[in-house]
This record gives sequence, C-alpha cells and structure tokens, in this order.
Amino acid sequence: MKIKTKLRLGLGLLFLMILTLSLIAARYVYVLKQDTENILQDNYKTLDYTRNMLLASDGLLSEVRARNMFEENLKLQQQNVTEPGEGAVTQKIASHLASLSLQKSNAGLPALIRSDLAELTRINMEAIHGKSDKALLTVRSAFVWIAVAGTICFLIALTLLVNLPGNIANPIRELTESIRAIAAKNYAERLHFQGRDEFGELASSFNSMAEKLEEYDNSNLSQVLFEKKRIDALINNMHEPVIGLDENKQILFANEEALRITGVAAADMLGKSASELAEQNDLIRVLIEEKNGQSGINASGSAASLKIYADNKESYFEKEIVDITIVPTGERVKKLIGQVILLKNITPFKELDFAKTNFIATVSHELKTPISSIKMSLQLLENQHTGLLNDEQAQLLTGIREDSDRLLKITGELLNMSQVETGNIQLNIQQSSPYEILRYAADAVKIPLEQKHISLVVQTDDELPHVKADMEKTAWVLINFLTNAVRYSQEESQIRIQVTDSGQTIRFSVQDEGKGIDSRYRTRIFDRYFQVPGSAKTGTGLGLAISKEFIEAQGGSIGVISEIGMGSTFYFELAKA
Ligand code: ADP
Repeated sequence: MKIKTKLRLGLGLLFLMILTLSLIAARYVYVLKQDTENILQDNYKTLDYTRNMLLASDGLLSEVRARNMFEENLKLQQQNVTEPGEGAVTQKIASHLASLSLQKSNAGLPALIRSDLAELTRINMEAIHGKSDKALLTVRSAFVWIAVAGTICFLIALTLLVNLPGNIANPIRELTESIRAIAAKNYAERLHFQGRDEFGELASSFNSMAEKLEEYDNSNLSQVLFEKKRIDALINNMHEPVIGLDENKQILFANEEALRITGVAAADMLGKSASELAEQNDLIRVLIEEKNGQSGINASGSAASLKIYADNKESYFEKEIVDITIVPTGERVKKLIGQVILLKNITPFKELDFAKTNFIATVSHELKTPISSIKMSLQLLENQHTGLLNDEQAQLLTGIREDSDRLLKITGELLNMSQVETGNIQLNIQQSSPYEILRYAADAVKIPLEQKHISLVVQTDDELPHVKADMEKTAWVLINFLTNAVRYSQEESQIRIQVTDSGQTIRFSVQDEGKGIDSRYRTRIFDRYFQVPGSAKTGTGLGLAISKEFIEAQGGSIGVISEIGMGSTFYFELAKA
C-alpha cells in the first residue's frame, strides 16, 4: 500500500472516531437536558401549586383572598396534569372545593382537601424519584458509550503513533545510510524495501543507479581501450564493407573496405553526419536509404543489389541495415543505439548469373533457327504434293507440330527473359492504336479459342486515342494474357477483352471464367519461374514475369483481380500518346 493511502486511511479513521465520540456525547447531554426539563415542568410546578393551595386552605371559609388564591392555583394545576392518578386527585380537590362553597358549615371538607393535596404531593414526589432514576440510567449508558468510543480512538491513535513515524522515518534513515555508503564508494550497497509503495520505487531506482556505478567502477579504462582496439581491428579486417551509425545518424566507424568503395577519407567520414555526407556523396545517400527499393545512381539489378564502381572494377553488393538495440544496465526496456550498414559482396554470384543468362540467351537464340526449319519441313510434309500420309503418320506429324510450337514458345520466352535480365530490352515506343494491338492479339489466339470452343467477347470504347507503346511487346503481353485465359478456362466458356479509357491511361483487360487464383499466390504470379502449385506444368512460369517487365519498361502498370472459383481478370494500363 502507498504511504499516501496509509496516511489517508489512518487519519481518516481517527477523524471518524472523534466525530462518532462527539455525536454520542452530544446526544446524551441532550437526553439529560430533556429529563431535567421534564421534572421541572411536570412535577416542580405541581408541587409549587400544591404548596400554595395548602397555605390557602386554612382561610378557605373565612378569607376571600385565600379562596381566590386556592382557585387560581387549582386552575393552574388542572392545566399541568402529567402523572398517572394526578388527574383524578386534582378532580377530587375541585369537587371538594365545590362542595365547600355549598355546605359552608361542613367542617370536615377542608381536612379532606388537605388530604387530597397531600396525595397530589406524594404522586409528584414519586414521579420525581422515577425520573431521577431514569436520568441516572442515561448517565450510566452515556458513560459506557463514551468510554468505548474513547478507548477505540485511543487505540487507533496509539497504533498510528507507534507505527506511522517508523513507517516513514525508517526507510529514509536506511536510504540516508545507503547514500553515505555509495558516497564512500561502496557500490555493492543495495536497498531492500519490499512492497510496491513509494519507497519500493525509490529502492528500485536507487539499486539501478548503484548497479550502473558498480559496473562503471569495475570497468578498467585500459581494459576498455584494449577491447575497443580489438573490435576495431576485427571490423577493419572484414572483407565486406561495414559502416556504423549512432542513433542520430552520425558515422561512428567505417572499415577500410567501406572507405575504399565510397572513396571518402576516414577523416572526412568519422564523426560526421551521414545525411550531410549523403548530400555530397551519392553512394552514401544510397547506402543510408532505409527503404528496400530499387536504388538510384550506381544501383542496378535486383531490388537490394547495388552496382558499385571502385578501383577500376565493377562490384555488386547486397545492402542490409541492421538496427542495434541494447538493454541498458539496470533497465528493462530495449533502446535503439544505432545502426550498422553491412554490404555483402555478391559479385561472384552476379557473374555466374550473367553467365547463366548469356548461356540461356545463346542457346535459345541458336535453337530458334533449327526449330523454325523443323516447322517449315513439317509444313512441307503436310502438303499433299510431297506425298500422301497415312492416319498414323498424320497423327505423328500433329504431335511434332505441337511440340515444336511449344519449343518455339519456350525459347522465345527464354530469349525475352534473358533480354530482360541483362537489361537489353529494345523498346520501340511509338504512337500505337489500341484497336490494332487488340486485333493483332485476337488474331493470334483464334486457333486455340476454336479448339476449346471458347467465345471471345470484345468490348472497346469508341474513338480511343493512341497509346505510347511498343506495339509488338504490348501485343505479346495481351497474347500471353489470352493464351493463359484459354489454358485455364473450361471448354465452351467465354473470355472477355475490354479496352477502355481510364483518364490518363488506356486499360486493356482480359477476363476469363476459369478457376481463379488463390489470394496466397496472387502477388507471386508475376515472379519469374513461379507457377501456382497444382496448375498445368506445360508453361515455364515466365510469361507473366516478362509481361510485367515489358509493361513497366513502357511506364505502364499491370495487375490481376481474381477470386478462387470466380475467374480472373488480368489487366495493364498504358499512357495515352
Ligand atoms: P505459365 O507459363 O506457367 O503460364 P505465367 O507466368 O504465364 O506462366 O503464369 C504463372 C502462373 O499464373 C501459372 O502457373 C498459372 O497457375 C497462373 N495463371 C496465369 N493466368 C491464369 C489464369 N487466367 N487463370 C488462372 N491462373 C492463371
């Protein structure tokens, strides 16, 4: 419990008890006052009237003054009947007085009146006794209650008196002693306050401070310097460039490899602000850029790979920015203290990749000619002038034609891909008619459409403007969309091509009624060599990747809208001419 709460509770309780005590006392004083007033009002007055009547009773027959006085006091007594039996006696006195005025000679009546008066006195004396007993009882119960409440108050006050000062003063004394110990360089000193009150928090802060002081005290400067040198040497001897930044992006260290590739001297780099350096050095700007995007100058290839020209040779690096966090001594929350930029040299892999791409390019280029000649020979063979073929031979020829068509498609895609990978896409961008692109693509897929009895619905806006596009490559993309749509559609279904004006761009879309694409794969189908698991393995997984490269190289955008079981709509948009 917090000290504040403890104080509030103790003092509050004491206040409440004092209030209760005062209320009890006030109540009993009031009750006693009521009792005394009752005796005065009810009985003392009656006794006074009775005494007056007794004095006047002697002269009742002879003196008019005495009779008047008697009657007056009797009237007053009749209005002050308070005790049981008092009314009847008063009535008796009145009737005896009335009889006396009628029978003046009756000498016994005054004696009767006096005995009535004596009876009245007796009744009131007894009532006074009774009431004084009652008052005595009230006094006793007041005494008991006030004593109980007073004792409780006393006990609470005593408890507070004994405990509270110690509760507050003891931790302060312990703290003072511990601070003295720390001042005397006894850094192992700790406070051990239990509980979650203010002193508990104070103890945890004090202990964390003492722990830090102990750590600093234990770290020997020469040992620290030696460790620093060792780490510096380690970083310097790394073959990969490493740059360290603090939390304010000031350069803390850069190894020799990093200085070599950036071409900046150590003195110009260390301790300088990275963002200021980036203004003068493009490579540093690219290095400190945090987003994983295609970097600007000197960068090429895949998203995170950088091409850097240093020492008369080109090298490729993959950049990684690692956040450095520590948990400071005695604390619990992690804190960012800087970043390390690591560059991984991937030049050998890049060279292998180039070799692979060149090999694929050469092979697919070399294969194209023989495959074309196979196709020509096939045409000659199918020609009836060359001789008649039996059914079996004709079937074999169809198989050979389909296979060579596929081979031609695959080599074409591989060639395109190698062009894309080497960055050798030759674009012939000109003002092209969207209708013409559409017609070209639709003609190319006529045969496969007929084979699967799929109907092609074409919807175009009227008078569409020209687009800025490479006619051949754009048609290739549309054909790719259409052949995919045919391949993944059921027989006798429908494919819809739409060419619409969407403001700044012209949008081409191909919608099919096929099985659709699972949301898990939707973003990946534009990756190279990716095929949705379970789909027909006849393709290469390159078509959509090449389409993306072709469209993006022309400044356009490409995408797909699809739900499993709901068909797919592939689209691309190109700028108006
Ligand atoms: P592939 O040569 O395998 O067709 P693509 O790059 O053209 O390569 O397509 C990649 C993958 O996308 C395919 O394996 C296929 O699973 C999926 N895909 C492409 N078009 C469609 C479509 N119209 N309907 C359903 N799936 C499709």
